[in-house]
Amino acid sequence: MICEEIIDKELQEKYQKLVETDNLLPIKISKFYMKKLIEEIDMIGKGGPLYRSVVPVRDKINIKTSVETRDYVEERKHNPIKNCDYVIQKYNDRLVFIITDVCFSHCQYCFRTYNLSKFQKSNLKETIENKIYTLKKYLKSNKNIKEIIFSGGDPLSIGYDNMKYALEKLNKWDIRVHTRAIVYDPLVFNKRMIKLLKKYNVRVVFHINHPYEIDELVEEKIKEIGKYGIRMYAQFPLLRGINDHSQVLIKLLVKMDELNIRPLSIFIPDPISYGAVNRISLSRIEKIMDEVNWNTPSWVNSTRFVMDTTIGKVRRENIIKRQGKCITFMRDGKTVNYYDLDDGIDIASDVNILLWKK
Ligand code: SF4
Repeated sequence: MICEEIIDKELQEKYQKLVETDNLLPIKISKFYMKKLIEEIDMIGKGGPLYRSVVPVRDKINIKTSVETRDYVEERKHNPIKNCDYVIQKYNDRLVFIITDVCFSHCQYCFRTYNLSKFQKSNLKETIENKIYTLKKYLKSNKNIKEIIFSGGDPLSIGYDNMKYALEKLNKWDIRVHTRAIVYDPLVFNKRMIKLLKKYNVRVVFHINHPYEIDELVEEKIKEIGKYGIRMYAQFPLLRGINDHSQVLIKLLVKMDELNIRPLSIFIPDPISYGAVNRISLSRIEKIMDEVNWNTPSWVNSTRFVMDTTIGKVRRENIIKRQGKCITFMRDGKTVNYYDLDDGIDIASDVNILLWKK
């Protein structure tokens, strides 16, 4: 139970019921992030950007839009190995390996909520050794795969020994690790772990959503990781109530540049169940994109705004039709429909709340 100063009891109980009946992720907040959360609550009360990242708000349960699904990107339809839901392949040359279902904290906007919650509840968990054995068997018969993306859950949560085992066994492939450990538990990047990642030339992709997630310790750790010559990248979602203002994005992107992190993509949030609270209307997304593009140098605005879909990642230039709320994207000759938010849901956040530290 999280104390009532963080979330009121009635909402917490309501949310907990949905965790049990509707596969939402239980509230989980690391000690490190909790400190920042309390600092934010002390300054502006509940509902600020860090708060909304890890604590459910009433609108999460109350707001729904007409078209939303549990698994918009249909990860479960992209499992190339029979009866194996921890390998996801959408592209010829790379695949996602769900090496663990454990995260340091649970993000309220997690697009993988449904599948992750199912993994966490499953009684049929495979050991990392078994998972790697099955994955390697598949890789042997599929020579096109050049890169394995460790995802989760948070791959850093598996600990040093498991990470070492995984990297040793998969050292013939390029390895990319997607992680939010840097903001939830930065000390996980201890010297041993950093040296291990360097030894296997791993690309590390940080998921950092807001400039306030980079405090002194996080900054120090990022610099340390960088000093070892590890290639650092970033991607993050565009989220209402968390970073839905060009000033927040610019501040974050500039900070990343200072720290030698290369931001790759800003993701448009998926139309998933319980996700309307964080979604933004397409017209406002385009406005935010333009503001970022027109007000920054190219080393800031070269970051792509993308949407992950069943046909792969698409961008604004992939839109081929707009009909009412239905927007059609085309990629490689395939099309996919995206349904915009119903009117009246998207209320822009106050930038003074998003950047309360002024
Ligand atoms: S760390 Fe990643 S996988 Fe875990 S809850 Fe957050 S977004 Fe989802």
